[in-house]
Amino acid sequence: MEPDRKPLLTILVPCHNEEANLMNLYKVLDGFSRSSYAVDNKEEVVSIDMNELDMEFLFVDDGSKDATHQLLETLRERDSRINVVSLSRNFGKENAMLAGMDFAQGDAVVIMDADLQDPIEVVPEMIYWWRKGYDDVYGKRIGRGKESWLRRRLSLSFYSLLKRMSEIDILPNVGDFRLLDRKAVDSLRKLRETQRYTKGLYCWVGYKKKEVAFDRADRLAGKSNFNLLKLINLAVEGVTSYTTVPLRISIIAGLIVSILAFIYLLVMFTKTLIFGEKVTGYPSLMCVILFLGGMQLLALGIIGEYIGRIFNETKGRPPYVVESYNFKKGWSERI
Ligand code: UDP
Ligand code: MG
Repeated sequence: MEPDRKPLLTILVPCHNEEANLMNLYKVLDGFSRSSYAVDNKEEVVSIDMNELDMEFLFVDDGSKDATHQLLETLRERDSRINVVSLSRNFGKENAMLAGMDFAQGDAVVIMDADLQDPIEVVPEMIYWWRKGYDDVYGKRIGRGKESWLRRRLSLSFYSLLKRMSEIDILPNVGDFRLLDRKAVDSLRKLRETQRYTKGLYCWVGYKKKEVAFDRADRLAGKSNFNLLKLINLAVEGVTSYTTVPLRISIIAGLIVSILAFIYLLVMFTKTLIFGEKVTGYPSLMCVILFLGGMQLLALGIIGEYIGRIFNETKGRPPYVVESYNFKKGWSERI
């Protein structure tokens, strides 16, 4: 960084059908960039003035079908700090974030949702820790905002399952709302897998991490883009992109069943030698066949899941396609 340049902070916002939130979001971001905040970290109170930083507001339009694109164009005309990457279709939040990281120019990047569920007041504290030398300052949700009981339960048990299965911790109640130093962004950009599970990737790249607590607000307007099915898909993505433990479990289960079957075989063999054989045992036979059949299908399904991933990755397709950058066509993926 040249000494006379202010550090540049990129606020990266993936947007999919967010017309109802964008104006408010822009107002919040604009206000934020002009304010000064007092950060109290219990030991000292530090004033952080946003005017000490240059800002880039980078929106990734992830194939929105509503007026998001036009709204962003209007905003961009009004404010040159805004940059807009438009993807050619909906690639999903994970890939939209990667596109954002590829185009972000900042010395640090803050990722936040367009629906204002991630409170901007937390960002100064993130900047405080960034200045102290942390490379990945992540927000940890204390409250989760309004969501269904089922979703909360499922998502918490998913985290604990994943934690038990993988060698690297994936932190519960931690989302994409975080500040990443340029180093961490560049490392994340090197991971080009198309089926991304970014929450796992943050942990994979490592670097000095720091937690900042916040209360997750309710969605400002519009409806969540994630339904139960999408969340289950994300969960499968999370497991299969991050750990091969399910394959090992199916090996172990297969081994246990085989050993039991072998013992049973010995027992049957000696029994037949001693007592002879009257043809009975249809129920037990059915049980064994059905049980083994089920086990095999399960194991095949698990293997299939991984092969599917290999299949997708070997095609070597880019994780996203850019239609325009700042409404100028002719941009392709930026690696
Ligand atoms: N999002 C996106 N592409 C998608 C789905 C969502 O870019 O395919 C964005 C969305 O616009 C928002 C963020 O990801 O800024 C989080 O989405 P949402 O609020 O729907 O998720 P939730 O808060 O319910 O987890
Ligand atoms: Mg949301």
